[in-house]
Amino acid sequence: MSVLVTGGAGYIGSHMVHALVDAGERVVVLDNLSTGFRAAVPAAATLVTGDTGDAALVSRLIAEHGIQSIIHFAASIVVPESVADPLKYYRNNTANTRSMIQCAVEGGVKHFIFSSTAAVYGNPAQTPVAEDATLAPMSPYGSSKLMSEIMLRDATLAHGLGHVILRYFNVAGADPAMRTGQSTKNATHLIKVAVETALGLREKIDVFGTDYPTSDGTCVRDYIHVSDLVAAHADALRHLRAGGAPETLNCGYGRGFSVLDVIETVKEVAGVDFRVDRAPRRPGDPAVIVAASDRARKVLGWQPRFDDLKTIVRHALDWQKKLGAG
Ligand code: UDP
Repeated sequence: MSVLVTGGAGYIGSHMVHALVDAGERVVVLDNLSTGFRAAVPAAATLVTGDTGDAALVSRLIAEHGIQSIIHFAASIVVPESVADPLKYYRNNTANTRSMIQCAVEGGVKHFIFSSTAAVYGNPAQTPVAEDATLAPMSPYGSSKLMSEIMLRDATLAHGLGHVILRYFNVAGADPAMRTGQSTKNATHLIKVAVETALGLREKIDVFGTDYPTSDGTCVRDYIHVSDLVAAHADALRHLRAGGAPETLNCGYGRGFSVLDVIETVKEVAGVDFRVDRAPRRPGDPAVIVAASDRARKVLGWQPRFDDLKTIVRHALDWQKKLGAG
């Protein structure tokens, strides 16, 4: 019995693979290495280079390794890119997830854990946003993930595939033991960009939009430590193995920080000042998105350990220094 982790060479996926290996699980990673890194996968896991849309390959892996559980991370994740190139997102995210679900059903896989996103809510009417809020994505990225959620629920109704859908808020930080972290080249995510700027790898950071209806005019997000996010997946796997019902759960801490809060924290933790420029709004950005997070705690027994922005930033910074050192 092994667990198949797609995107296991990527940022979040590699943290998951480490956690599974730590727990004594046998792990097969499927990753096309488009944004992931071979070195991010621990030696104890089996890395297969290939596409989640390659049904013949996925079916063979399920059969050969006796896969009972799939944790499906592999996806394209950049909101502005999805606005510019939507069909890439509907292929990589929606069509490839459809193929993965079909392979899972045909191969007798029991459990499917799916990486979804707060972007399915769009600009929520109420915040913190609960799982039963209206779903109105503002970007092809959010739509591509919402379509996958719908397919998964329908496949569960028709074929009994057990699933947990986790809607990620803003994931950041790195493995506290510094075995892996966010190594993405040309990253666009706020904490990563700010940390790179603090270390002199970028000349400045642009603040996208300073006229939002928030306390300081910049967007507010719920930043969650990658290790806590991965712990929610481990809890979801335990839930499904114990016969737990299908669930759709937010993964966030339930509190928000503005773009300027984050930049100030990075300056403070890094102990340096750097150039911050005001810039126009970025397409597809909702003003405020903060999770109602009690459901994951209640249903999965999820207990976050790193709910502290300074800790998240410190781990991101330490990882970036390690990357810089090669
Ligand atoms: N952001 C910014 N400058 C950057 C990167 C991001 O002002 O260099 C803002 C972005 O517009 C959004 C917030 O930071 O309001 C979080 O963006 P990110 O891309 O990290 O995550 P998203 O919320 O889009 O998933």
